[in-house]
Amino acid sequence: MSNIIVQKFGGTSLGTEERIASVAKIVKEASQSANVIVVVSAMSGETNRLIKLAKSFGDDPSKREFDALISTGEKVSAALLAMALHQIDVKAKSYTASQISMKTTNSYSKARILEVDGKKIQDALDEGIVPIITGFQGITESGDVTTLGRGGSDTTAVAIAAQMKAERCDIYTDVDGIYTTDPRVVPEAKKLDTITMEEMLEMAGQGAKVIQIRAVEFANKYKVPVRVLSSFEPGDGTLISLEEKDMENGLVSGIAFQKDQMKYTLHGVSDTPGIAYAILGPLSDANIEVDVIVQNVSVNGKTDFTFTVSKEDEISTTTVIKKLKDSLNFDDLLIDSNIAKVSLVGVGMRSHAGIASKAFKALSENEVNILMISTSEIKITIVIEDSSVETAVKALHNSFELDK
Ligand code: ASP
Ligand code: MG
Repeated sequence: MSNIIVQKFGGTSLGTEERIASVAKIVKEASQSANVIVVVSAMSGETNRLIKLAKSFGDDPSKREFDALISTGEKVSAALLAMALHQIDVKAKSYTASQISMKTTNSYSKARILEVDGKKIQDALDEGIVPIITGFQGITESGDVTTLGRGGSDTTAVAIAAQMKAERCDIYTDVDGIYTTDPRVVPEAKKLDTITMEEMLEMAGQGAKVIQIRAVEFANKYKVPVRVLSSFEPGDGTLISLEEKDMENGLVSGIAFQKDQMKYTLHGVSDTPGIAYAILGPLSDANIEVDVIVQNVSVNGKTDFTFTVSKEDEISTTTVIKKLKDSLNFDDLLIDSNIAKVSLVGVGMRSHAGIASKAFKALSENEVNILMISTSEIKITIVIEDSSVETAVKALHNSFELDK
């Protein structure tokens, strides 16, 4: 038995002692036909509790101590799961990031994985032990604890799968897979059996939350097949595959959407070379992610420049743009905070024309006003008023028959 499978369990999957016991059964069963490596999140609610606790001694606690604190939830669940496995006669050992030398950059709370020492993990497997590794955390070169950003255990799991050349990384969660869109908005949404890595990257980038986008980026880079499935009910989940899908699967695979977006327009900015860079450069330097960008036709050497950002970045974006006021000399700054983005994603779009017009027809029939449009090879994103999101998503889901 040389095949390796990484199984990652999220917070709700490990939320109670009973849940941990049922996860232990899933691990035991898998370990009968593969070398299993487990990665765990903290028990549900625990990381939030720790974050709150950290604010007990001031609003701005030391970043080093903050990460030292919020990484502890994963140690609890790793050790508990090991005990649960012992109880059903499975050899298991918990390991922290430091024990397996999970090295990261030293940017606390958003550290990036640099390298993992596979030897400890391999030694455990060779001895017939299931290693249970704390997700979400790493250590710096000097051994201080870091964390990878919320939802970071997914990335830990994929990184370990890549390092250990696992056959697959299974992400166990509380939903049974990736859906054509959020079933809370469209109850007819369908679970997808497979989705391509490219599509998943676009879906996660545009708001689908089932798996952390960095985990998908990692999986894509190191070619690790990932499966998303439920630990609560049996089923095969959704395979995020490295292979191109056959085109019969339809043109559009899914619809992602994001509320909490903002639109900034620099009105009457002079249309000279370098203007886009003069605006977007400082935003990127401030770590602000800009998404849809539109520059209008210019009139008398002046133009309008519009872009969207997430509401999280409101304060920093406004600060950066206001600072540019003197050097850029635009007439007005218009800020719209009631917008949302809806994206149609599908590799089938690559070889088919007419998808955009079909989408616009569906939106026009439902009186959804389009504010901005941006397209790429496998994605169409439209910016609309946030009050129309549900109407738009339903209309598009219906028009592309994603429930069929
Ligand atoms: N426990 C961490 C969080 O709540 C990491 C994770 O769940 O992936 O964000
Ligand atoms: Mg998660």
